[in-house]
This record gives sequence, structure tokens and C-alpha cells, in this order.
Amino acid sequence: MLVGCSGKDVTGNNTGKVEVVTTYSILYDIVKNVGGDLVEVHSMVPIGANPHEFDPLPEDVKKTADADVVFYNGLNLEAGNSWFEKLLGTTGKTGEDAPVFRLSEGVEPKYLTTEGNEGQEDPHAWLNIANGIKYTKNARDALIQVDPDNKAVYEENAEKYIIELESLHEKAKQAFNDIPEEERYLVTSEGAFKYFSDAYHIKAGYIWEINAENQGAPDQIRQVIDLINEKNIDVLFVETSIDPRSMETVSRETGVPIGGELYTDSLGKPGQEGETYIDMMKWNIKTIAEQLKKYSN
Ligand SMILES: [Zn+2]
Repeated sequence: MLVGCSGKDVTGNNTGKVEVVTTYSILYDIVKNVGGDLVEVHSMVPIGANPHEFDPLPEDVKKTADADVVFYNGLNLEAGNSWFEKLLGTTGKTGEDAPVFRLSEGVEPKYLTTEGNEGQEDPHAWLNIANGIKYTKNARDALIQVDPDNKAVYEENAEKYIIELESLHEKAKQAFNDIPEEERYLVTSEGAFKYFSDAYHIKAGYIWEINAENQGAPDQIRQVIDLINEKNIDVLFVETSIDPRSMETVSRETGVPIGGELYTDSLGKPGQEGETYIDMMKWNIKTIAEQLKKYSN
């Protein structure tokens, strides 16, 4: 295993910090909550962009090569164009002893069901906060492994953060209680809400099941319109990291309004409502509940 930390500042001096790379912003925030001032975190996929497919920049390659620890989601997330696997190959972060950790380790996976995707893992586990707690514990254990001297700090930071996450998870379980069950339907562009839907008792529909080449194809649009008509769905949602045009088409063709924007595969930009993992989950829960209530008949 890795001993000591290679953290260097711009002048090449050792900063004494653990140099961390995460694949996307949600993991960045979780790791930062556990690592605090002891870690310097570089997140690769920009805020608002799609982590399923990505082309790492030269800076990402360099930081990954130099990193003391690299965190990714797994469950088929960073797999769209095999960008993460290729990056690990390029930077020599391969083999059993490489300090590369999958934060979704221990999560019970849900699987894709649409034709061509059957049997593949659905990556969006973090949208159930109980899984976010698992990510936090995995980040804690990994940081302790690479920086055992600061074990007590990582444990304390993680404990505080987990208390906040547990409280939000309990609230979320009640969030849609006063909406009649047949009105509790969440329709988004990407089917990112399988884990969320299961944890917080709300059904989920989508135009396409997972971000890939084929987004917003005519047969996908037709299917979601059928669902909207069949279930009398009154409001639709878009995601901050996805082009809204397909959902706008669905909204035009059905006359059903788009009620709000949700955070799925990315945090919000600094200053936006969802700029941390906790804030994005709070925003999603609040927006969904408010809009369903507003339009329920
Ligand atoms: Zn996604």
C-alpha cells in the first residue's frame, strides 16, 4: 500500500495533504466532507456535465497519475466511452495495489431493464441517501488506508456528516406522504431515479433509461407520452446535467408542464441551490413534493 502523501503545492513543495482525484462533483463533495483540510480534491467531470461519457483533459491525466487516491462511482457510471478505465491504464493506476476505490462498494445494485441494456447495473445509487452514507463510510476507510496517521480526524468528520445524512434520509422517507399514491409519479429525461424511487416511495418514469448515444429517439418519446396519458401525469421534470429539449418536446405534445429542474448526475454550480450533495438532495425532494402538490388533481 501507499505510504505517506505526495501532495505538492505549485512550487513543488510538499503540502502534506492527501492528493485526491474524483470522477465527478457529487463524489468530490462527499470526499471533501470526510477529508476536510487534510485532502486536496480534484474533480474531473465539470459541474453540469455528464459523467457517463467524458474526455479527460491533460490536467486530469496528470492529477490522476500524481494522486494518492482516486475515487469513482462504479456501477457502470464512468463506462460510457470507457473513459475512466482508459485513464487508469494511461496513468498506471491499475493492479490490485493501485489506490483506486469504488465508492459504491457494498451498495445493492439495481439493474437496467430496457432492450439492449438488460442486466447492466444502474449507476445512480447516490440518489438514495442511505447509499450516500455507504459512500461516506467507504471514503473514510480508504482515506484511513492511505493516511493512517489521521484516522481519528477522518472518523470524526465522517461521523458528523453521517448524522446529517441520516436525518435527511429519515425526512425524505416522509416527504411525499401527503400526496395521493396515484399522483406520486416522477417523470424525468434520464431514468436516474430507480434508487430514489424505491427509498422514498414514489414511482419513476423516463424518456431514456440511461445517458447513452440514443437519447430522445422517437420511440422513446412515444413511450413516455403513452405513460403520461395512461397514468394521468400532471407535471414533468428536467435535469441540470441533461439537454432539456427532449422533455420540452414531450411537454409540448402532451400539454403537461415542466415543473422544475432536478440535480441527478452533478451538483449545482457554486451559488446555486444544489451546490452540495445534501443541498441537491434537499432541493430535489422539495421541488418534487411542491410540484406534485401544485398539479395534483
Ligand atoms: Zn445519469
